Amino acid sequence: MSLPTPRPGILNIPIYQVGESKISGFSKVIKLASNEAALGPSPKAEQALANAIGHLEKYPDGAAVELRKTIAKTHGVEFENVICGAGSDEILALLCRAYAGEGDEIIHTRHAFLMFGIYANSVGATPIMTPETELTADIDKILEAVTPRTRLVFLANPNNPTGTCLPSSEITRLRQELREDIVLVLDGAYAEFVEADNYESGLDLARSTQNTVATRTFSKIYGLASLRLGWAYGPKHIIDALERLRSPFNVSVPAQVAGLAALEDQEHIAKAKAHNSKWRDIAIQRLRGLGLKVGETHANFILPEFPAEKGKSAADADAYLKSKGIIVRRVDGYGLPNYLRITIGNDEEMERVLEELTVFLEQSGA
Ligand SMILES: *Cc1c(COP(=O)(O)O)cnc(C)c1O
Repeated sequence: MSLPTPRPGILNIPIYQVGESKISGFSKVIKLASNEAALGPSPKAEQALANAIGHLEKYPDGAAVELRKTIAKTHGVEFENVICGAGSDEILALLCRAYAGEGDEIIHTRHAFLMFGIYANSVGATPIMTPETELTADIDKILEAVTPRTRLVFLANPNNPTGTCLPSSEITRLRQELREDIVLVLDGAYAEFVEADNYESGLDLARSTQNTVATRTFSKIYGLASLRLGWAYGPKHIIDALERLRSPFNVSVPAQVAGLAALEDQEHIAKAKAHNSKWRDIAIQRLRGLGLKVGETHANFILPEFPAEKGKSAADADAYLKSKGIIVRRVDGYGLPNYLRITIGNDEEMERVLEELTVFLEQSGA
């Protein structure tokens, strides 16, 4: 007798490496590795969560009606076309399950969010990676990669971990030139941080076409990563397919009530955005002044490039920061061994990480 075996390909899926959160010898660390909200969630969301305690024996509203109505009102979209998930991750997985399988292809760019490839593999589809230009998605390369087997294109805009962003004209061109039966998924996990005025998160295109889905999350600027809450907006026929696949109570009561309260506190979101822009600019200028190459980013992190030389490398900088109790994210797994992804933290965290990086760069003569 042989033991049960998973479907082909499943054991080849690498296990997603989450950002570290502990360093031995430190009781308190500064963690700037997972793009979590610098200012935390709205105090109103915390209060709503506290008020919701009690009646844990009850199932949540499976359709998350109040939450979806509030999402719709906040973003000016139709409530019937919104689906909620346990993180936007769940929705990305549902899209793969609904539209791809064995022998199909799912396109994403070279330095894309790792979950795109993982979810493609999870349904037996083949992830196809397309080259980027200066760490930015290249629409022509995506279009060149399309084959008769292509089912989905995943594009995070802004992208993680590069932080780069395409103008809405390019996204629209991608949609126009992409075959009609291919689902374009625009992952707007960092949409709220973008300041460029030629940017559109994907909601407009999801409304005006029959084959585009925009996904959003409460894990980043809304500061509710621990509750697992995300949503998608798209044409009715796609939302309907996803509705059939999702588990009936996929979004918990705490996630629903806190998410709703967080949406209603847009003042907090504006504050978080301003804080992010301020420190992102300071950090980029400071590190450039110290001789590092740092590109513009449109999300809540920066991505400085370190020299490949021993003693000055990203690995050395990471080790130095760790020795000071600071955790940032190495991005070798994304094909970026010379870079570190540093999440924008609160005032104190930003002062510390910039101070320590200054010391490292001066000592190493980078
Ligand atoms: C963080 C992130 C998400 C959000 O995932 P959740 O499951 O909603 O926490 C989605 N896409 C990208 C590109 C991200 O960086």
